[in-house]
Amino acid sequence: MSLTAITENLSLSRPVKATLSVAIFSMMMGLVGCNNASTPAENADVDSQAPDQETVTDTAAVATDSDQVVTIYSSRNEQLIKPLLDKYTEATGVKIELVTDKTGPLMARLEAEGQNTPADMLLTVDAGNLWQAAQQGLLQPVASSVLESNVPAKYRDPKGQWTGLSLRARTIFYDPSKVDANQLSTYADLADPKWKGKLCLRTSNAVYNQSLVASMIENLGAEKTEEIIRGWVDNLATDVFSNDTSMLEAIAAGQCEVGIANSYYYGRVLDEKPDFPVQIFWANQGTTGTHVNISGAGVVTNSDNPDGALKLMEWLSSDEAQGIYASADKEYPVKEGIDESEMLRSWGTFTQDNINVQKFGELQTQAIQMMDKVGYK
Ligand code: FE
Repeated sequence: MSLTAITENLSLSRPVKATLSVAIFSMMMGLVGCNNASTPAENADVDSQAPDQETVTDTAAVATDSDQVVTIYSSRNEQLIKPLLDKYTEATGVKIELVTDKTGPLMARLEAEGQNTPADMLLTVDAGNLWQAAQQGLLQPVASSVLESNVPAKYRDPKGQWTGLSLRARTIFYDPSKVDANQLSTYADLADPKWKGKLCLRTSNAVYNQSLVASMIENLGAEKTEEIIRGWVDNLATDVFSNDTSMLEAIAAGQCEVGIANSYYYGRVLDEKPDFPVQIFWANQGTTGTHVNISGAGVVTNSDNPDGALKLMEWLSSDEAQGIYASADKEYPVKEGIDESEMLRSWGTFTQDNINVQKFGELQTQAIQMMDKVGYK
């Protein structure tokens, strides 16, 4: 019997059914969990942390008026976004239910729950994930002049099914005791034989790398990109890493000299270890610009409260929320003209790649196949 059928067959009010769906689904997903190790610095996105924690914080059973409740399925860590969501509740009286898990299980849950889903909004990381959710019909298009004015078009789905809410740069990191910044230039240059045995990379299973390679296919063409990632694989100092933080630690430990990671992982490590001996380098300045991706959100297709979800998304894109949302995880605001944190300012300014992030989704399959072909694990 499907999950929807289980809860549909019970004569319960919607909020209670919602709670049951979540509980049953959690039990189902718990059976297929795995045990990836992760460091404390890796933990702000659920997508990069051990999945065996208690993640469901649903309290829909106590909710009364569904218009006054917005239920978020979130792959962002609760600690990270809860203070901001509390502010919204304080200002508007709208209660927020937060269900936290990895993106894959959340999307599977949305699919399984169908029309019975309690979810109004999907909040996750990477345009590749949001694109995938939209492809699966899990998100609905919205038209919002507020989002259009707050979020640059390149960080929104052209069909309005999702929008970026914060930015992260995926760029080059290096060991300054062995590498001079003027030896560095582009992602493509890391394929040069001069980096033989000196490069560290995260696994190609990470959507972040799939999006980076997709952006290279868009900028440089498939043939050139394949040549580059083949060169990366040839230059690897050691096996690929399961997460960005351990890759950064490997540079610090002298295992490799250069690598590619998301900027906020570096920020989190610096928070814990201000003397961390690794430097950030803005890739592709003077060419296509540094690869930038988003965290973002979309209104769930089967939401009972799409207006409430959209209002919350609009608020998250506002001046009031943007600085807090972005700086909570060392990210960059998606809205222009918002102050960055002191740490981010210390890394200097950089030119961003101008690609519409939706391309990362469109070219995802091609990127995955290409990485597989060249033996990038
Ligand atoms: Fe992450």
